[in-house]
Amino acid sequence: MEDIRIGNGYDVHALAPGLPLWLGGIRIESEVGCIAHSDGDVAIHALCDALLGALALGDIGKHFPDSDDAYRGIDSKILLERTMDMVRERGWRVGNADITIAMQRPKLRPYIDSMRECIASIAGTDIGCISIKATTTEKLGFVGRGEGCEVFASVLLLK
Ligand code: MG
Repeated sequence: MEDIRIGNGYDVHALAPGLPLWLGGIRIESEVGCIAHSDGDVAIHALCDALLGALALGDIGKHFPDSDDAYRGIDSKILLERTMDMVRERGWRVGNADITIAMQRPKLRPYIDSMRECIASIAGTDIGCISIKATTTEKLGFVGRGEGCEVFASVLLLK
């Protein structure tokens, strides 16, 4: 039997008008974007935390601290690549990942497959192993008021 590890990740960023919105490695047409030290790709951040969590390697803030100018405005795809390097160095590969993005607007459906393709290529998996789902919160809470974007990620690693 293969060795398996499970990880979960969670991230939130506040939204503000006039900032670029990046999710799952894709630029999204939007009037608001994430306030962040990096490019604010909250979906990739949650996935990185899930990958690190599966191997008990701490969290994204430990490996890529927002106090470090090296990460100012950084493309989060680079953070995912570096996280995947840590996964591969230890002999693991991604079995599958499931990501839920909670955001009131804009509608994310048109971008979902591009995000899946982008993440699958960095994670070295088939697109069929990367699930991305988008939901609103029915106008409830900070997500519903459009104040922030919240992402949950689960990942299975195989050896
Ligand atoms: Mg983040």
